[in-house]
Amino acid sequence: MKNYDVAIIGLGPTGGTLANLIGLGGFSVIVLDKEKSFYPLPRAVHFDDEVMRVFQTIGITNSFLNHTIINKGTKFVNSKGKVILDWPRPRKLTENGWYPSYRFNQPDLEKKLRKKLKDYKKVTIKQNADVRRVQNIKNGFAKIIYKNSVNKKTHEIYAKYVIGCDGANSITRKLMGTKMDNLGFTQKWAVVDLILKKNKKNLPDRTIQYSNPKQPATYCRNVGKRRRWEFAIKNNLSEKKVLSEKYIWNFLKPWLKKNEAYLERKTIYTFESAISRKWRKGRIFISGDAAHLMPPFMGQGMCAGIRDASNLAWKIMKCLENNHDEKLLDTYQSERFSNVKEYIETTMRMGEFVNAAESIQITDNISSSTDGIKSMKSIKPGLGIGLGPERDKNRGKIFPQFKKKNGKNLDEKFSKNPLLIVSSKIKKKIPTKLNHIKDINVIGLSKYLESINSFAVIVRPDRFIFQSCNKTKNFNKLVNLFNKF
Ligand SMILES: Cc1cc2nc3c(=O)[nH]c(=O)nc-3n(C[C@H](O)[C@H](O)[C@H](O)COP(=O)(O)OP(=O)(O)OC[C@H]3O[C@@H](n4cnc5c(N)ncnc54)[C@H](O)[C@@H]3O)c2cc1C
Repeated sequence: MKNYDVAIIGLGPTGGTLANLIGLGGFSVIVLDKEKSFYPLPRAVHFDDEVMRVFQTIGITNSFLNHTIINKGTKFVNSKGKVILDWPRPRKLTENGWYPSYRFNQPDLEKKLRKKLKDYKKVTIKQNADVRRVQNIKNGFAKIIYKNSVNKKTHEIYAKYVIGCDGANSITRKLMGTKMDNLGFTQKWAVVDLILKKNKKNLPDRTIQYSNPKQPATYCRNVGKRRRWEFAIKNNLSEKKVLSEKYIWNFLKPWLKKNEAYLERKTIYTFESAISRKWRKGRIFISGDAAHLMPPFMGQGMCAGIRDASNLAWKIMKCLENNHDEKLLDTYQSERFSNVKEYIETTMRMGEFVNAAESIQITDNISSSTDGIKSMKSIKPGLGIGLGPERDKNRGKIFPQFKKKNGKNLDEKFSKNPLLIVSSKIKKKIPTKLNHIKDINVIGLSKYLESINSFAVIVRPDRFIFQSCNKTKNFNKLVNLFNKF
């Protein structure tokens, strides 16, 4: 009987991230993907600082950075060409220690994730492995049946935990017997990817959302000479007509001539917004597009899947190391659900805004600047109810990335285990076996602890605050909690 600690179904960005995080923890992982190789054409083109921090944990940032550019932000322009809303992404490091927003090409990321997986002897990748059945069985395992699509052989394997990262049409979700709730946005858009033959200075250097009722559209300034246009398809137009070269080059006329770029890809997507009711059944989970879908206006679909992976990986590793813990595993959905729902709902409002309903208020983070142009700030939803006490104002917030006085990143100190952060105001001797850091050894940490009104905090392996303590007399309780973690 072939058995593994973890089986991951689907090797897209969500499955690739999860396999890396669990591989890094030293556990045995099998990744099954029904395709021959990764999906070679562009899909996601944007990700954020929080996601880059996960890539840092995995150890791919050094080589991947060359394939990214820092994104300057988005402007929303009306049919008269007037900027009606600005969403700047300043070139300033955020609390996560990275820039707020990057542009990239999804196949470049998927290649890096796959290459990194080769470092782990206990990680096995099977391509052409089409999963047909997933089922919880009694002895603390789940059973998976997959068919090799080349030699048609059927295989049966077992894993202590199975995660379906198998995309929008997830078979795992269907076999779990749960449904997706449609949140109300369904629209057909054409997506056109081009590679410029030469640099073209008059093209915008940031994303432009054309809030034009006649033709809602998006322009994306991607890495190198890559550029993308997306446009809404009116109901009466046939897909065949929209995807004809004639129609596309006619649409592109205001920006490009036919001899100025190669058309890499043209396709039609139905942009949807949906969320699965259940994300877990026993030892079977879903993550990424398998659990939620959103239109790409904010560039957050893939990011949400990577956040799922970061939240779930360490919880599963804790269960593998100690014991299966239903309560801990339940916090995966409760913490992630409200977070991703806020992204989906904000993205839907942004979609309506691009469809020219200028009266739509996308977020509460919009203010008027002196030149009269409204300016929007990014949303940063915390975690939903889950681990840590709800009354603790710091619980579920991102713990910033700090540098130690020796120049190393504090993040390097922990990846699958939590960390105890202690203010120098606590005079007690702390046992060296505790995985702890004193604020005096880290640049800016004591000021930060003051700003969140705390003497000590427990930081989870996914860099969120588990619990903070604002009275020295409560420190022992926090240490006890940390020891049980
Ligand atoms: C036009 C467009 C633009 C986008 N822009 C952005 C953006 O800028 N930023 C962003 O964050 N997101 C963006 N997204 C969303 C992003 O592309 C997806 O959210 C992301 O690819 C989802 O990753 P995933 O790993 O969850 O699923 P997928 O990438 O869909 O991977 C699923 C994998 O599961 C495999 N699989 C499926 N069924 C089985 C089975 N039965 N057995 C074995 N394997 C199986 C598939 O072969 C596939 O490899 C965009 C999407 C589109 C369409």
